[in-house]
Amino acid sequence: MQQSLDDIAELAEDLGNRFLFRGKVNLEKIAKGKRIRFIESNYGNHFLGQLVHYSRKFYILLNTDQLTKSESGRIRFTIAHELGHYFIDGHRSKLAKGISLSFSGDLSEQECKKIENAANHFAANLLMPKTHFLKLASKLEPGLAGIFVLKSQYDTSIESTTKHYVNQNISATVMIKWRADHTFHYAWCSKSFTEMTGLKNFHLPIRFDSDYIKGQFEIIDSSGSDYLETATPLSRWFSTIMQGTSKDFLGLEQTVKLGDFGGITLLTFQQ
Ligand SMILES: [Zn+2]
Repeated sequence: MQQSLDDIAELAEDLGNRFLFRGKVNLEKIAKGKRIRFIESNYGNHFLGQLVHYSRKFYILLNTDQLTKSESGRIRFTIAHELGHYFIDGHRSKLAKGISLSFSGDLSEQECKKIENAANHFAANLLMPKTHFLKLASKLEPGLAGIFVLKSQYDTSIESTTKHYVNQNISATVMIKWRADHTFHYAWCSKSFTEMTGLKNFHLPIRFDSDYIKGQFEIIDSSGSDYLETATPLSRWFSTIMQGTSKDFLGLEQTVKLGDFGGITLLTFQQ
């Protein structure tokens, strides 16, 4: 039977808790315990990491061509994702049968997407065990100020920490991810935000303004600050919310730049 995303989160959280050392999950120790070896080599632009099965053993291939360009939070997320392919029964058994999870014709695109989502879900919950994360977040300032502390505690990337923060439903939040060329990449909101506004994930009517984001990135570059913040009405960001109506809540808008990976705008609304 297939493991649900909740089961996968629970499995990852248990494992993360067992390998927490000074609040940070020791991924190398987890791999070592399962005799999974890391092999670093030059693989061009293909991937950052990949779990492979060879002669009855599992290996995590790490691409040095990509590693040198990545911060440790991204590398750790990649390793945690590959560990997900090992610890999720359905993924491990496919690999053991010689079925590739990524570049193969064995699986449909939809199936590959599902597998990747499950491994990402595992990775976030492994690196940032839920109860531990919530306890720490409750002591911190809401929004990016707290997320920066969480990111350095767990040694994770800003993007994965922000997404995990939104998923934990700490408050009514929306993250909007921008590409490096300032175009819209994706948006994701918390359950409280859905309840507060009636808007739903996968159908968020984001009003995006690439020139505005470009300007925000330029200010961040010239000021040297981690992120920019300002007050914002909901109608500024959502095309279905009319200005001045009862649903036009006032919130906190914070924008952070992610180097070559674009940036994130986080909106936080008090209920
Ligand atoms: Zn994968």
